[in-house]
Amino acid sequence: MSELDNIPATHKAPLLAGVVGFPIDHSRSPLMHNYWLKRYGIKGHYIPISLSGAEFVAGIRSLPRLGFKGVNITIPHKVTMLGLADTVTDRAALIGAVNTIAFKPDGTIWADNTDGYGFIQNMRQNAPLWKAASGPALVLGAGGAARAVISALLAEGVTELRLANRTRQRAQLLADQFGAKVQVVDWNRASDAVDGAETIVNTTSLGMQGQPDLPIMLDLAPKTATVSDLVYTPLITPLLESAMALGLVAVDGLGMLLHQGVPGFEQWFEHRPEVDEGLRMAVLDR
Ligand code: NAP
Repeated sequence: MSELDNIPATHKAPLLAGVVGFPIDHSRSPLMHNYWLKRYGIKGHYIPISLSGAEFVAGIRSLPRLGFKGVNITIPHKVTMLGLADTVTDRAALIGAVNTIAFKPDGTIWADNTDGYGFIQNMRQNAPLWKAASGPALVLGAGGAARAVISALLAEGVTELRLANRTRQRAQLLADQFGAKVQVVDWNRASDAVDGAETIVNTTSLGMQGQPDLPIMLDLAPKTATVSDLVYTPLITPLLESAMALGLVAVDGLGMLLHQGVPGFEQWFEHRPEVDEGLRMAVLDR
C-alpha cells in the first residue's frame, strides 16, 4: 500500500494532462478536453504547454514528476516525440509521428497517433453509409495528415488509393512506403482522378482561411461519393460547398479533431468521452 492510498479521494490531486507545442495559443484541444472534464464532473485540468525545440526533451521528462498523466503533442514536435517514447503503437510508427502520449507508472512513455482513428470515426459519425472498401479513394496532399488518412483508409480495406500532391515526389515517397494500392496521380490531373472515387479527401491546407482554394472539380464524382475536408476554418470549405451543390455527402474536418482527442482523454481521465453537438459548439465558439 502506498501513502497515496490513505488519502481520501476528495483530497487527491486533480488529474493533469495537456497539449505541448510551439506556438500553442492556436490549439483548440484545451477547449475540448476542459469541456469534457466539466461535462463528466472529473476533477482534472488540461493545460496548453509551450515548449520550444530546445526545451522539448527536458520539458517532456519533467511532466510526469509534476503529476501529468500524459499530453497531446502538436507542431513542431510530432516526429521528435517518436524517438523519445519507450513504446510506440503500430499506427504511430506507420504514420511516422506521435500526437498522444501517456506516462506509465513504471516511468516509461507510451506514444500513439490518433489522427487516422479520428478521421475514420468522423466519417462513421457524419456519413453513416460510408465504407472505405466500397470503391477507390482519392487523397489530395502528401504531408503529415495525409499519412494518417492513407494508413487509416488502407486499414479500413480501401481497394485502390489515388494520391495527388503538388510536389509529386512527396506523393511517390508515400506510395513507395504504403504499397501497390497507392497510385500517384498528377496534381494537374486530380480532377480526372475524381472519376469513380467513392471517397475524396483533402489533406492539404488549401481552402483554409487566407489560403487559395483547392483547384479540384468534383463533376466526375460518382453520385454516391463522400467528400471530406480536413480543413475546418472555415467549417464549410469551398470543396465541401461544391460537394453539397452536387448532392454528395460532405464531411467537415472539425469532427476529426474532436474524435482524435477521445483515446487520450480516456487514458488520462479514465472516462470515454462522447463527441456530440455540445462539444462542437464549445470548440467552434471561440
Ligand atoms: P503538411 O505536412 O505541412 O502538408 C501540407 C500539404 O498541403 C502538402 O501536401 C502540401 O503540398 C500541400 N500544400 C500546401 N500549400 C499548397 C499549395 N499552395 N498548393 C498545393 N498544395 C499545397 O501539413 P499537415 O499536417 O499534413 O496538415 C494539412 C492540413 O490538414 C492543414 O490544413 C491542417 O490544419 C489540417 N489537419 C486537420 C486535422 C483535423 O483534425 N481536422 C488534423 C491534421 C491536419 P506540398 O507537398 O507540395 O508542399
